[in-house]
Amino acid sequence: MKEIEKERQMIREAATKTAQKIIQPRAAEIDATGEFPWDLVEALGRQGFLSLLLPEEFGGMNGDITSFCSVVEEIAKVCGSSSLLLLAQGMGTLPIWLGGNSSQKERYFTQISEKNNLTAFTLNESIAGSDALLIKTRAQKQGKNYLLNGRKCFITHGSIAHLYALFASTHPRKGLDGISAFVVEKGTPGLGFGKKEEKIGMRGSVTTDVTFEDCRIPRENRLGEEGEGWKIAMDTLNRSRPAMGAQAIGIAQRALDYAIRYANERIQFSNPIASFQAIRFMIADMATQIEAARALVYQAAARIDARLEGKEKLSAMAKLYASDMAMRVTTDAVQILGGYGYMRDYPVERMMRDAKVTQIFEGPNQLQRLTVAYHLFGGDE
Ligand SMILES: Cc1cc2nc3c(=O)[nH]c(=O)nc-3n(C[C@H](O)[C@H](O)[C@H](O)COP(=O)(O)OP(=O)(O)OC[C@H]3O[C@@H](n4cnc5c(N)ncnc54)[C@H](O)[C@@H]3O)c2cc1C
Repeated sequence: MKEIEKERQMIREAATKTAQKIIQPRAAEIDATGEFPWDLVEALGRQGFLSLLLPEEFGGMNGDITSFCSVVEEIAKVCGSSSLLLLAQGMGTLPIWLGGNSSQKERYFTQISEKNNLTAFTLNESIAGSDALLIKTRAQKQGKNYLLNGRKCFITHGSIAHLYALFASTHPRKGLDGISAFVVEKGTPGLGFGKKEEKIGMRGSVTTDVTFEDCRIPRENRLGEEGEGWKIAMDTLNRSRPAMGAQAIGIAQRALDYAIRYANERIQFSNPIASFQAIRFMIADMATQIEAARALVYQAAARIDARLEGKEKLSAMAKLYASDMAMRVTTDAVQILGGYGYMRDYPVERMMRDAKVTQIFEGPNQLQRLTVAYHLFGGDE
């Protein structure tokens, strides 16, 4: 086995162990209470997973997108909220990785790896969801500073991050070319938060608005040049979308495993329901769709890691296919459990609720279809 494959294997095995030993016993409780699992931040940090994508020189694991996907998948098999924690961390660090200069990387990455600091990807606004042209958050240059004003909406790690990768308009008339990227640090005067959102799934993940009221940050906090923000945001999403697909696969895999076990044990008409062809075909379809999604997700990840062309289309396909698949598979798992599947005492309803957001977050699937079609009709990378 090549060195890199060995490393990836070790990382996946460490994730499986952490998931099964530390996270699985907490998963149902995290969902029931909706409390953010700070103890798991510690555990994930100890394993290095919060710094998975960071270079070794700054205390990171130097992991690639394939490893990022495998860790997210393994954790998602036991707890959607905990896998979203890792996904959001990756999304918050990637803009710095892509747009930061060496002193920004040293400053922020060291904070993340040494203190297990959380990050947030801060793009979405209430009226600017899919349509980023409507972004209203402003960053006005004032001498050596930028003055930030605006409100971001539904931000994962909203009120609990230490570093916010923010996308704001420096030149509103230039549209997407007028968007710039910044890092805003916790405690900066003028940085505030909305209420914690009550969600149907991923209930242990903190989602809040993030507000900027005359929030002043130094020019050194800008990532890349003015106007490069949209590119940094898109490059981030192209790299993180396979991991969103991996999250969907993890959730679906667990739902399938549970449904198989249940179908073997549940007796109706004097036979295990697993003996009925209707159930067997459902299970066969679920497993087939999971494997198809897995192949697509890791193909997209491999293409990104190999720096090959075509990553945008494959990333969109991976996120789109895997998340739609997870919604179908988890819904079918509930069906296989019958009335018990609808009850909170059984875990598959949680998986169905957690799966739903994978179709929405990181660009809803309708937008992913637009991206795929754009490339099929001749758009370029
Ligand atoms: C739990 C959660 C966590 C999140 N975390 C973050 C985060 O950390 N950072 C962040 O920046 N954002 C985050 N978001 C925001 C998320 O990315 C947006 O909700 C998402 O991009 C969709 O935007 P919207 O909700 O405004 O929907 P809208 O854009 O209003 O879309 C509504 C519907 O219209 C469809 N639609 C829109 N435009 C088109 C079109 N052109 N053609 C066809 N259909 C279309 C959409 O697919 C959707 O079905 C989070 C959201 C949730 C729910």
